[in-house]
Amino acid sequence: HEFNKFEEIALAERTFLAIKPDGVQRGLVGEIIRRFEDKGFTLVGLKFLKVSRELAEQHYDVHRERPFFAGLVDFITSGPVVALVWEGEGVIASARKIIGATNPLSAEPGTIRGDFGVNIGRNLIHGSDAIETAQQEVSLWFKEEELVSWQPTITPWLHE
Ligand code: GDP
Ligand code: MG
Repeated sequence: HEFNKFEEIALAERTFLAIKPDGVQRGLVGEIIRRFEDKGFTLVGLKFLKVSRELAEQHYDVHRERPFFAGLVDFITSGPVVALVWEGEGVIASARKIIGATNPLSAEPGTIRGDFGVNIGRNLIHGSDAIETAQQEVSLWFKEEELVSWQPTITPWLHE
């Protein structure tokens, strides 16, 4: 199957996701990964780690002045996290839809937060919100050599 330049660029969009400590503790790792695989996105990075305070503070730097910042850093460092990079056409915006609204009480059923969460401080998963933040977060959490460039054989059945 041949891809022209435009398609290659569209398919190469990447986003960063993290299954937060509540998602890991609740045994939702497989369920959450399943939803992105099912949608047709390609996994290009995955690691399981305890997040350092330094990494947590950098990741949530934009929220440094918010009242919930300290609690957020305490929470994200409280247990293991699954860090993921996914690739595919429109993956940044699509992943945010699959994840659902920040407050799980307002998140639609069918979304991860809508199906599994009730509290804004325990909303299970992080997803990058724009192209620039996706690039920053991918490079904050992963070294280039930790990312795997590959094309699933099913690609022509997912993209014209
Ligand atoms: P997201 O992009 O949907 O994850 O939401 P934000 O970027 O606005 O906030 C980052 C994270 O901070 C959220 O996922 C929540 O875990 C947490 N958060 C945001 N707003 C609040 C809040 O009002 N209270 C608490 N406790 N946590 C919040
Ligand atoms: Mg955010």
